[in-house]
Amino acid sequence: MSTSENPVSSNFIRQIVAADLASNKHNGKVATRFPPEPNGYLHIGHAKSICLNFTIALENGGTCNLRFDDTNPEKESVEFMEAIERDVHWLGFQWAGKYHASDYFEQLYQYAVQLIKSGDAYVDSLSAEQIRQYRGTLTEPGKESPDRNRSIEENLDLFQRMRAGEFADGQYVLRAKIDMASPNINMRDPTIYRIRRVHHQRTAHEWCIYPMYDYTHCISDAIEGITHSLCTLEFEDHRPLYDWVLDKLQTPCHPQQIEFARLQLEYAVMSKRKLNQLVTEKHVGGWDDPRMPTIAGLRRAGYTPSSIRDFCERIGVTKKDSWIKMGVLENSIREDLNEHAPRRMAVLKPLRVVIDNYADDAVEEYDIANHPQKPEMGTRKVPFGKVVYIEQDDFAEVPPPKFKRLVPGGEVRLRGSYVIKCEEVIKDEAGNIVELRCSYDPNTLGKNPEGRKVKGVIHWVSSAHSIPAEVRLYDRLFKVPNPDAEAHFLDALNPNSLEILTGCRVEASLNSAEPESRYQFERTGYFCVDSVDSTAEKLVFNRTVTLRDTWAK
Ligand code: ATP
Ligand code: MG
Repeated sequence: MSTSENPVSSNFIRQIVAADLASNKHNGKVATRFPPEPNGYLHIGHAKSICLNFTIALENGGTCNLRFDDTNPEKESVEFMEAIERDVHWLGFQWAGKYHASDYFEQLYQYAVQLIKSGDAYVDSLSAEQIRQYRGTLTEPGKESPDRNRSIEENLDLFQRMRAGEFADGQYVLRAKIDMASPNINMRDPTIYRIRRVHHQRTAHEWCIYPMYDYTHCISDAIEGITHSLCTLEFEDHRPLYDWVLDKLQTPCHPQQIEFARLQLEYAVMSKRKLNQLVTEKHVGGWDDPRMPTIAGLRRAGYTPSSIRDFCERIGVTKKDSWIKMGVLENSIREDLNEHAPRRMAVLKPLRVVIDNYADDAVEEYDIANHPQKPEMGTRKVPFGKVVYIEQDDFAEVPPPKFKRLVPGGEVRLRGSYVIKCEEVIKDEAGNIVELRCSYDPNTLGKNPEGRKVKGVIHWVSSAHSIPAEVRLYDRLFKVPNPDAEAHFLDALNPNSLEILTGCRVEASLNSAEPESRYQFERTGYFCVDSVDSTAEKLVFNRTVTLRDTWAK
């Protein structure tokens, strides 16, 4: 792949890390982490963050942790955690340590006690709604809660009783005591703990209070000795809070938060809430549906890990929001497969062709190259016989201008085999073409016909030797570039995002194709064996990407 050969391009985060190493800012250490919330499968946006965090560590002899940010038990699950681990591994990365924010619940609690003791946190009895009202707006300062000046003793007592389960959900919260008039609303006494009686996938019912994201994240980073805490731009306004918490607690390590622009990909949605809705409402077959922008979906569609890493390197890392065209992602896999995928012949919409002057039981076998430019990829045997299938589209009774394929009375070359001529078109009672009767020129195997030019070359398979297959033609899930801008993103679903072809015929050599193996079907596109539904009895192929970018027009 180009990434491994080309020198990596720099970006502002690489520059910051290099400068920090030069100045020995974090004692010459680089430690990053990828911190997903296990409330859904990872998507291509996460891949950007994964590649960034892991490569920054790898390039600098540092470490990268996987940390589950599991502080919202209602929406999280073990299934999602397992999927996340699988996907990070599949992308080719190995974490130094695997942690959970929930590993730190006790420490987080003790740190909160410390904040109360230093007069930097208080227990508030305002309701969530009241807190919202008191918060003020961008133009007006907030209002202090009547509980703000509760004594330290009382705060300690209430907080301990919150933990002990003496109060109802929502009856109290713990808030950081910062500045209700701050121009940054995140600093107006943010809530750092709330009471919530829910089962947690790891700590079960041990806790009925849960720490909030902003409070948890910075402390988890500090506990793990993270040096560079990379996150997306929407957290820029949270950085003062990140630093405030760590300054107040005087943690031994104070990581540096650096924000970068999130990946926005055209024709996709990336919010986990929306992806979840697509799955639960069955607009797609699951999180790994090949139309989903999830890692699992891309994998099932036939993307390779290196194509995704290559894509993430290509789009770069900046501080400016921008939209990436789906074609950029598709190009990364197209280039990879053009380079590495063996070629095969597959007829997706078969038309039967009988070669009348070919002996009834004769069979020939050709050695056809697996890759036109790569002899080292070898050849495979492709049998030929009296009856073959060609694509319906490769024959036209009334050809459009410049049609170079088969027409009545015309000739075409069968790839790697003979030139055939269409002698007769057989139709059923309804007028549909059901068969072509053809002749072949025995002097055209591996050489040009004499005295005439035959321009067209089409793919084919032998009727007697080919095997049946189902082929799923996937297209973009949405019909507009930015479904999030629609009133209802579901209205933007592309109704033609999946076409299932059940009567396909593929060349015999594919009978041993393993799940997830990838091929170029000559002249039709790149395909991979479906990892879920394909069996030895019934092969199923997914189209990964077309040969050319047909959407660019
Ligand atoms: P959602 O709001 O849909 O749940 P999220 O951003 O909260 O998504 P997390 O699981 O919290 O998802 O994200 C884990 C990490 O991946 C975070 O550091 C986050 O910034 C990063 N990330 C998420 N989406 C993108 C994206 N589109 N581009 C780059 N990084 C992303
Ligand atoms: Mg999140």
